[in-house]
Amino acid sequence: MPKKRKNRGRGKGGKGREAIVQCDLCGALLPRSKAKKITKRVSFLDPQLERELRSKGTQILSYAMTRYVCIRCAVHYGIVKIRSREERKRREALRA
Ligand SMILES: [Zn+2]
Repeated sequence: MPKKRKNRGRGKGGKGREAIVQCDLCGALLPRSKAKKITKRVSFLDPQLERELRSKGTQILSYAMTRYVCIRCAVHYGIVKIRSREERKRREALRA
C-alpha cells in the first residue's frame, strides 16, 4: 500500500500504545503522537497594561498554557498547512 507520509502521520516509531489526548477545539480523542501540542504564554493582565508595566521594568507573572489540537482542527485553524507531496518529505519542525 502506498504511504502518504513516512511516519504515517504520527511520531511514535515502534513504541506501541500511547496516551490518548483530547483535542481542545473539537473534543476528538486521539493518540498523543497524532496531536499538535501548542504552548502559549498567558498572563492575567490586559495586554496594554502589561506592555506599560513591562516598559517600567515590572516582573509579570505568566504561565504556560498547553493545549492539544487534532490535525483536522490544526489545518482548519491554520496552525499547520497542507503541504504538497514534495514538501511533505522535508523533515522540518512544524511549529505553531
Ligand atoms: Zn479537533
